[in-house]
Amino acid sequence: MPKSSVDLTIVGSIGIDTIETPTEKQEEILGGSASYACAAASFFTHTGMVGVVGTDFPVAFRQTWEDMSIDLKGLQVIEGKTFRWSGVYEDNMDNRRTLSTDLNVFETFSPELPEVYRDAPYLFLGNIHPALQLHVLEQIRDPKFILIDTMDLWINIDKENLIKVIGKCHMLTLNESEAQLFTGELTLNKAAQQLLKLGPEYVLIKKGGNGSMLFTQDDIFLLHAYPLDHFKDPTGAGDTFAGGLMGALAASGKTDKESIRQAMLQGSVMASFGVEEFSLERLKQLDHKTIHERVATLKEMGRI
Ligand code: AMP
Repeated sequence: MPKSSVDLTIVGSIGIDTIETPTEKQEEILGGSASYACAAASFFTHTGMVGVVGTDFPVAFRQTWEDMSIDLKGLQVIEGKTFRWSGVYEDNMDNRRTLSTDLNVFETFSPELPEVYRDAPYLFLGNIHPALQLHVLEQIRDPKFILIDTMDLWINIDKENLIKVIGKCHMLTLNESEAQLFTGELTLNKAAQQLLKLGPEYVLIKKGGNGSMLFTQDDIFLLHAYPLDHFKDPTGAGDTFAGGLMGALAASGKTDKESIRQAMLQGSVMASFGVEEFSLERLKQLDHKTIHERVATLKEMGRI
Protein backbone atom coordinates (compact mmCIF):
# COMPACT_ATOMS: atom_id res chain seq x y z
CA MET A 1 0.00 0.00 0.00
CA PRO A 2 1.45 3.45 -0.89
CA LYS A 3 2.29 5.60 2.11
CA SER A 4 -0.17 8.44 2.57
CA SER A 5 1.60 11.73 1.98
CA VAL A 6 -0.93 13.64 4.05
CA ASP A 7 -2.55 12.93 7.41
CA LEU A 8 -5.64 14.97 6.68
CA THR A 9 -7.50 15.49 3.41
CA ILE A 10 -9.80 18.49 3.10
CA VAL A 11 -12.33 18.80 0.28
CA GLY A 12 -14.31 21.97 -0.29
CA SER A 13 -14.90 25.15 -2.19
CA ILE A 14 -12.28 27.69 -3.21
CA GLY A 15 -13.64 31.13 -3.89
CA ILE A 16 -12.66 34.64 -4.72
CA ASP A 17 -14.89 36.63 -2.38
CA THR A 18 -16.12 40.21 -2.19
CA ILE A 19 -17.29 41.02 1.31
CA GLU A 20 -18.92 44.08 2.76
CA THR A 21 -19.26 44.74 6.48
CA PRO A 22 -20.81 47.84 8.06
CA THR A 23 -17.37 49.48 8.14
CA GLU A 24 -15.35 48.02 5.30
CA LYS A 25 -15.51 46.43 1.87
CA GLN A 26 -12.88 44.07 0.50
CA GLU A 27 -12.96 42.88 -3.09
CA GLU A 28 -11.59 39.75 -4.74
CA ILE A 29 -10.06 38.19 -1.65
CA LEU A 30 -9.18 34.54 -1.06
CA GLY A 31 -12.05 32.47 0.39
CA GLY A 32 -13.86 29.17 0.20
CA SER A 33 -14.41 26.39 2.72
CA ALA A 34 -11.31 24.41 1.69
CA SER A 35 -9.08 27.46 1.84
CA TYR A 36 -10.11 28.44 5.38
CA ALA A 37 -10.09 24.86 6.67
CA CYS A 38 -6.69 23.94 5.18
CA ALA A 39 -5.12 27.13 6.50
CA ALA A 40 -6.28 26.35 10.05
CA ALA A 41 -5.37 22.66 9.86
CA SER A 42 -1.89 23.41 8.49
CA PHE A 43 -0.79 24.63 11.94
CA PHE A 44 -1.27 21.14 13.35
CA THR A 45 -0.78 18.50 10.67
CA HIS A 46 0.22 17.75 7.08
CA THR A 47 -2.88 18.69 5.12
CA GLY A 48 -3.90 18.05 1.52
CA MET A 49 -6.38 20.26 -0.32
CA VAL A 50 -8.92 18.99 -2.86
CA GLY A 51 -10.68 21.71 -4.82
CA VAL A 52 -10.83 23.58 -8.10
CA VAL A 53 -9.70 26.97 -9.36
CA GLY A 54 -9.76 28.61 -12.78
CA THR A 55 -6.82 29.77 -14.87
CA ASP A 56 -7.44 33.30 -13.55
CA PHE A 57 -6.53 32.26 -10.00
CA PRO A 58 -3.91 34.69 -8.65
CA VAL A 59 -0.40 33.34 -8.12
CA ALA A 60 -0.25 35.20 -4.79
CA PHE A 61 -3.22 33.20 -3.42
CA ARG A 62 -1.56 29.92 -4.32
CA GLN A 63 1.63 31.18 -2.71
CA THR A 64 -0.30 31.85 0.54
CA TRP A 65 -1.18 28.14 0.72
CA GLU A 66 2.34 27.08 -0.22
CA ASP A 67 3.76 29.28 2.54
CA MET A 68 1.53 27.34 4.94
CA SER A 69 2.95 24.05 3.58
CA ILE A 70 -0.49 22.90 2.42
CA ASP A 71 -0.19 19.99 -0.02
CA LEU A 72 -1.74 21.05 -3.34
CA LYS A 73 -1.60 17.79 -5.30
CA GLY A 74 -5.41 17.61 -5.10
CA LEU A 75 -5.94 21.09 -6.50
CA GLN A 76 -7.40 21.11 -10.02
CA VAL A 77 -6.78 24.04 -12.34
CA ILE A 78 -9.45 24.22 -15.05
CA GLU A 79 -9.60 26.56 -18.05
CA GLY A 80 -12.03 29.34 -17.09
CA LYS A 81 -12.86 31.55 -14.14
CA THR A 82 -12.62 30.68 -10.43
CA PHE A 83 -15.80 30.44 -8.32
CA ARG A 84 -16.83 33.89 -7.06
CA TRP A 85 -19.07 34.80 -4.17
CA SER A 86 -20.09 38.10 -2.64
CA GLY A 87 -21.97 38.89 0.53
CA VAL A 88 -22.89 41.72 2.84
CA TYR A 89 -23.18 41.73 6.65
CA GLU A 90 -25.97 43.68 8.32
CA ASP A 91 -25.31 46.11 11.16
CA ASN A 92 -24.97 43.58 13.98
CA MET A 93 -22.78 41.25 11.83
CA ASP A 94 -25.12 38.39 12.72
CA ASN A 95 -27.01 38.35 9.46
CA ARG A 96 -25.35 37.88 6.13
CA ARG A 97 -26.96 38.31 2.72
CA THR A 98 -25.51 36.66 -0.36
CA LEU A 99 -25.32 39.20 -3.19
CA SER A 100 -24.00 36.95 -5.93
CA THR A 101 -22.72 33.44 -6.56
CA ASP A 102 -20.90 32.70 -9.82
CA LEU A 103 -20.07 29.02 -9.88
CA ASN A 104 -17.78 29.21 -12.94
CA VAL A 105 -15.35 26.21 -12.89
CA PHE A 106 -16.99 25.00 -9.64
CA GLU A 107 -20.14 24.11 -11.62
CA THR A 108 -18.60 21.02 -13.19
CA PHE A 109 -16.18 20.21 -10.36
CA SER A 110 -15.69 16.55 -9.58
CA PRO A 111 -13.35 15.99 -6.63
CA GLU A 112 -10.65 13.48 -7.53
CA LEU A 113 -8.29 12.40 -4.77
CA PRO A 114 -4.66 11.88 -5.75
CA GLU A 115 -3.62 8.28 -5.06
CA VAL A 116 -1.47 9.36 -2.09
CA TYR A 117 -4.46 11.05 -0.36
CA ARG A 118 -6.65 7.94 -0.43
CA ASP A 119 -5.11 6.37 2.67
CA ALA A 120 -5.14 9.57 4.73
CA PRO A 121 -6.67 8.60 8.10
CA TYR A 122 -8.58 11.85 8.59
CA LEU A 123 -10.98 13.49 6.15
CA PHE A 124 -12.94 16.72 6.29
CA LEU A 125 -15.77 16.90 3.77
CA GLY A 126 -16.28 20.65 3.55
CA ASN A 127 -19.37 22.29 2.24
CA ILE A 128 -19.97 21.08 -1.34
CA HIS A 129 -22.84 19.25 -3.06
CA PRO A 130 -23.66 16.04 -1.12
CA ALA A 131 -23.38 13.96 -4.31
CA LEU A 132 -19.78 15.14 -4.61
CA GLN A 133 -19.15 14.35 -0.94
CA LEU A 134 -20.39 10.80 -1.67
CA HIS A 135 -18.05 10.63 -4.65
CA VAL A 136 -15.11 11.44 -2.32
CA LEU A 137 -16.11 8.64 0.05
CA GLU A 138 -15.99 6.17 -2.83
CA GLN A 139 -12.30 6.99 -3.31
CA ILE A 140 -10.95 6.67 0.22
CA ARG A 141 -9.65 3.53 1.91
CA ASP A 142 -10.01 2.65 5.56
CA PRO A 143 -10.58 6.13 7.02
CA LYS A 144 -10.20 6.62 10.76
CA PHE A 145 -12.37 9.70 11.18
CA ILE A 146 -14.59 11.69 8.80
CA LEU A 147 -16.13 15.06 9.61
CA ILE A 148 -18.82 16.44 7.32
CA ASP A 149 -20.11 20.00 6.98
CA THR A 150 -23.04 21.26 4.93
CA MET A 151 -25.24 24.31 4.38
CA ASP A 152 -28.89 25.34 4.08
CA LEU A 153 -28.77 25.10 0.26
CA TRP A 154 -28.14 21.32 0.30
CA ILE A 155 -30.63 20.74 3.11
CA ASN A 156 -33.23 22.42 0.90
CA ILE A 157 -32.38 20.88 -2.47
CA ASP A 158 -30.78 17.46 -1.90
CA LYS A 159 -31.63 16.16 1.54
CA GLU A 160 -31.75 12.59 0.27
CA ASN A 161 -28.07 12.45 -0.71
CA LEU A 162 -27.15 14.51 2.33
CA ILE A 163 -28.73 11.92 4.64
CA LYS A 164 -26.90 9.17 2.76
CA VAL A 165 -23.49 10.80 3.14
CA ILE A 166 -24.01 11.85 6.78
CA GLY A 167 -24.72 8.19 7.59
CA LYS A 168 -21.21 7.29 6.44
CA CYS A 169 -19.41 9.91 8.58
CA HIS A 170 -18.27 9.90 12.20
CA MET A 171 -19.18 13.48 12.94
CA LEU A 172 -21.53 16.09 11.49
CA THR A 173 -21.06 19.82 11.98
CA LEU A 174 -23.61 22.47 11.21
CA ASN A 175 -24.76 25.73 12.69
CA GLU A 176 -27.75 26.33 14.90
CA SER A 177 -30.14 27.50 12.17
CA GLU A 178 -29.10 24.66 9.84
CA ALA A 179 -29.77 22.08 12.58
CA GLN A 180 -33.24 23.58 13.07
CA LEU A 181 -33.90 23.72 9.31
CA PHE A 182 -32.76 20.11 8.84
CA THR A 183 -34.88 18.64 11.62
CA GLY A 184 -37.73 21.08 12.13
CA GLU A 185 -36.89 21.01 15.86
CA LEU A 186 -36.52 24.26 17.77
CA THR A 187 -34.38 22.98 20.63
CA LEU A 188 -30.83 21.97 19.81
CA ASN A 189 -31.13 18.91 22.05
CA LYS A 190 -33.96 17.47 20.00
CA ALA A 191 -32.36 18.50 16.72
CA ALA A 192 -29.08 16.82 17.68
CA GLN A 193 -30.81 13.62 18.81
CA GLN A 194 -32.54 13.40 15.41
CA LEU A 195 -29.27 14.00 13.58
CA LEU A 196 -27.45 11.36 15.64
CA LYS A 197 -30.07 8.85 14.45
CA LEU A 198 -28.76 9.34 10.90
CA GLY A 199 -25.58 7.53 11.92
CA PRO A 200 -22.76 9.83 13.07
CA GLU A 201 -21.40 9.29 16.57
CA TYR A 202 -20.97 13.04 17.11
CA VAL A 203 -22.99 16.11 16.17
CA LEU A 204 -21.26 19.46 16.59
CA ILE A 205 -23.57 22.47 16.57
CA LYS A 206 -21.90 25.86 16.13
CA LYS A 207 -23.47 28.96 17.62
CA GLY A 208 -21.17 31.63 16.19
CA GLY A 209 -19.88 33.98 18.89
CA ASN A 210 -21.87 31.99 21.46
CA GLY A 211 -19.71 28.89 21.23
CA SER A 212 -20.43 25.33 20.23
CA MET A 213 -22.02 22.13 21.51
CA LEU A 214 -20.88 18.55 20.96
CA PHE A 215 -23.67 15.99 21.22
CA THR A 216 -23.36 12.21 21.52
CA GLN A 217 -26.06 9.66 22.42
CA ASP A 218 -25.02 9.94 26.08
CA ASP A 219 -23.88 13.46 26.79
CA ILE A 220 -23.31 17.06 25.77
CA PHE A 221 -20.11 19.10 25.89
CA LEU A 222 -20.34 22.91 25.91
CA LEU A 223 -17.53 25.14 24.72
CA HIS A 224 -17.45 28.92 24.92
CA ALA A 225 -16.14 30.96 22.03
CA TYR A 226 -13.05 33.01 22.82
CA PRO A 227 -14.31 36.50 23.75
CA LEU A 228 -12.85 39.01 21.29
CA ASP A 229 -12.53 42.79 21.65
CA HIS A 230 -13.17 43.22 17.97
CA PHE A 231 -13.58 41.20 14.81
CA LYS A 232 -13.65 42.25 11.18
CA ASP A 233 -15.14 39.42 9.11
CA PRO A 234 -16.93 36.25 10.29
CA THR A 235 -16.78 34.64 6.82
CA GLY A 236 -15.35 31.14 6.97
CA ALA A 237 -15.35 30.96 10.77
CA GLY A 238 -17.06 27.56 10.73
CA ASP A 239 -14.55 26.21 8.21
CA THR A 240 -11.64 27.56 10.22
CA PHE A 241 -13.11 25.91 13.33
CA ALA A 242 -13.53 22.59 11.52
CA GLY A 243 -10.06 22.77 9.96
CA GLY A 244 -8.40 23.52 13.30
CA LEU A 245 -10.38 20.74 14.97
CA MET A 246 -9.49 18.14 12.35
CA GLY A 247 -5.87 19.28 12.20
CA ALA A 248 -5.49 18.94 15.95
CA LEU A 249 -7.30 15.59 16.00
CA ALA A 250 -5.10 14.25 13.20
CA ALA A 251 -2.03 15.43 15.10
CA SER A 252 -3.20 13.52 18.18
CA GLY A 253 -3.71 10.37 16.10
CA LYS A 254 -6.80 9.63 18.21
CA THR A 255 -10.57 9.70 17.75
CA ASP A 256 -11.92 9.30 21.30
CA LYS A 257 -14.31 11.75 22.93
CA GLU A 258 -11.71 13.42 25.14
CA SER A 259 -9.39 14.01 22.17
CA ILE A 260 -12.30 15.47 20.19
CA ARG A 261 -13.07 17.88 23.05
CA GLN A 262 -9.45 19.00 23.13
CA ALA A 263 -9.45 19.41 19.34
CA MET A 264 -12.62 21.54 19.59
CA LEU A 265 -10.70 23.92 21.81
CA GLN A 266 -8.01 24.32 19.15
CA GLY A 267 -10.63 24.73 16.42
CA SER A 268 -12.50 27.36 18.37
CA VAL A 269 -9.31 29.33 18.99
CA MET A 270 -8.33 29.15 15.30
CA ALA A 271 -11.77 30.51 14.36
CA SER A 272 -11.35 33.37 16.84
CA PHE A 273 -8.10 34.38 15.13
CA GLY A 274 -9.58 33.97 11.65
CA VAL A 275 -12.38 36.50 12.16
CA GLU A 276 -10.01 39.21 13.41
CA GLU A 277 -9.14 40.04 9.79
CA PHE A 278 -10.59 39.40 6.32
CA SER A 279 -9.68 36.26 4.36
CA LEU A 280 -6.57 34.44 5.68
CA GLU A 281 -4.79 37.65 6.70
CA ARG A 282 -4.72 36.90 10.44
CA LEU A 283 -3.94 33.20 10.00
CA LYS A 284 -1.01 34.14 7.77
CA GLN A 285 0.57 36.07 10.66
CA LEU A 286 -0.02 33.43 13.35
CA ASP A 287 2.56 31.36 15.18
CA HIS A 288 2.25 28.35 17.47
CA LYS A 289 3.10 30.26 20.64
CA THR A 290 0.23 32.72 20.07
CA ILE A 291 -2.17 29.82 19.43
CA HIS A 292 -1.07 27.96 22.59
CA GLU A 293 -1.46 31.09 24.72
CA ARG A 294 -5.03 31.66 23.56
CA VAL A 295 -5.89 27.97 24.03
CA ALA A 296 -4.59 28.17 27.60
CA THR A 297 -6.58 31.35 28.27
CA LEU A 298 -9.81 29.86 26.90
CA LYS A 299 -9.27 26.73 29.00
CA GLU A 300 -8.71 28.82 32.10
CA MET A 301 -11.86 30.86 31.45
CA GLY A 302 -13.96 27.70 31.47
CA ARG A 303 -12.49 26.27 34.67
CA ILE A 304 -14.86 25.74 37.58
P1 AMP B 1 -19.12 30.34 5.64
O1 AMP B 1 -18.85 31.67 6.28
O2 AMP B 1 -18.78 29.19 6.53
O3 AMP B 1 -20.50 30.25 5.05
O4 AMP B 1 -18.10 30.19 4.43
C1 AMP B 1 -17.91 31.21 3.54
C2 AMP B 1 -17.15 30.74 2.32
O5 AMP B 1 -17.95 29.81 1.58
C3 AMP B 1 -16.81 31.90 1.38
O6 AMP B 1 -15.42 32.09 1.40
C4 AMP B 1 -17.35 31.47 0.00
O7 AMP B 1 -16.35 31.51 -0.99
C5 AMP B 1 -17.82 30.03 0.20
N1 AMP B 1 -19.14 29.79 -0.39
C6 AMP B 1 -20.17 30.67 -0.53
N2 AMP B 1 -21.23 30.07 -1.13
C7 AMP B 1 -20.87 28.78 -1.37
C8 AMP B 1 -21.51 27.63 -1.99
N3 AMP B 1 -22.75 27.70 -2.50
N4 AMP B 1 -20.82 26.48 -2.02
C9 AMP B 1 -19.59 26.39 -1.52
N5 AMP B 1 -18.93 27.42 -0.96
C10 AMP B 1 -19.55 28.60 -0.88
